[in-house]
Amino acid sequence: MYKKICYRCSQTSYSSTRIDNWYCPYCQLDLTSTKGAAVNHTLNVESIMSRLERQRGIKIYQNYQVR
Ligand SMILES: [Zn+2]
Repeated sequence: MYKKICYRCSQTSYSSTRIDNWYCPYCQLDLTSTKGAAVNHTLNVESIMSRLERQRGIKIYQNYQVR
């Protein structure tokens, strides 16, 4: 588990791997070249996943609104 903190909006994003392309889920800034930090595995993964799911839901909602 890795995390990156966006240097534009200061929000933290998580990924299971250091993927090739990493975009801030909040402001879509390209964080690929930003150094990722390993996250302590004792951290509650489920709470992170539910947060990601919620963000995805919000994004879908926003897309629906824009449409
Ligand atoms: Zn950002």
